[in-house]
Amino acid sequence: MINYKLLTPGPLTTTETVKKEMLVDHCTWDNDYKQITQYIRKDLLRIAHVSEKEYTVVLMQGSGTFGVESTLTSSVGKKGKLLIAANGAYGERMEDIAKHAGIDYKILNFRYNEVPDAKIIANEIENDPAITHVSMVHCETTSGIINDIVAVAKAVKSLGRTFIVDAMSSFGGVDIDVAGLGIDFIISSANKCIQGVPGFSFIICRRSELKKCEGNAVSLSLDLYDQWECMERDGKWRFTSPTHVVLAFAKALEELEAEGGVKARCARYSENNRLLIEKMTSLGFSTYLDSNQSPIITTFLYPDAANFSFEEMYRFIKDRGYAIYPGKVTDADVFRIGNIGEIYTEDIEKLYGIFADFVSR
Ligand SMILES: *Cc1c(COP(=O)(O)O)cnc(C)c1O
Repeated sequence: MINYKLLTPGPLTTTETVKKEMLVDHCTWDNDYKQITQYIRKDLLRIAHVSEKEYTVVLMQGSGTFGVESTLTSSVGKKGKLLIAANGAYGERMEDIAKHAGIDYKILNFRYNEVPDAKIIANEIENDPAITHVSMVHCETTSGIINDIVAVAKAVKSLGRTFIVDAMSSFGGVDIDVAGLGIDFIISSANKCIQGVPGFSFIICRRSELKKCEGNAVSLSLDLYDQWECMERDGKWRFTSPTHVVLAFAKALEELEAEGGVKARCARYSENNRLLIEKMTSLGFSTYLDSNQSPIITTFLYPDAANFSFEEMYRFIKDRGYAIYPGKVTDADVFRIGNIGEIYTEDIEKLYGIFADFVSR
């Protein structure tokens, strides 16, 4: 079996012990299994710095997008109006979701290398009383930029609107004070910084806002309220749950705690990222972003060399044990390197050696 590590933003390289949890075929109706679901939901509340009284967690089958779609379609529904602040493909995907569901929305497009401006967002809300919800991405994985959810949360909450954050690629890897910021819905998935495997997303919801979603959803399977209503009773998933993924995720949560929690994980990712940029820059590569670089994933510009081929470079690196990621920004030729998952500075050192061989081959 070929084996390489993933330097991508998810799925990512997981531990042997997380993978081993999936060797059990667990039944779904018994109390043991429901308790695992409840443990996961409780632990996510703790990581988000929220109380069980004010907030609750819904686990939703599918990839991260299913969680975003579930949240937007169940909360904004047909009655509200959504303001989307976008500076990358994942912000734009929210627009796509709104269009498909027939949700009333407005999108503010910012440049991919700039963070959405809280003042512009506040202005837009003040000028449009119909806006009920505001959504944005925390770490825009498209570029690797980390957006200022603190400033935007302040603006949105002071104007009394519901605030939805896609923290898919940052939750668990960057500390987020969900209650302190007043975030109403925050979404992430099993296969990002918690370091589980793909199969479900999770949504941390303010209870008072979630209750307003009852009967709002335009989809049966993505109905956030109904999913919660069932899960809240005793930990049962409404439809078949990804059992192997759930077991792996529970293990991944334990391992996050054993590492020292989000602060320690963030420190490891940050050091990976610092070293990555230092090493790549020393080889003549430059970063797409000038500022607001996240500790999650970095976008590098293609080198000037006339004969440069991303496919050739990708294959060269993969043959030597690492998979990198193509670019996604629209205004430059770029590629991306993620540094989350079971990745350490020795991996970055090895990667540096491979890149050095590639550029001098
Ligand atoms: C990974 C990711 C998603 C979800 O993508 P899926 O392919 O559906 O898992 C959404 N938003 C951001 C910012 C992401 O990084």
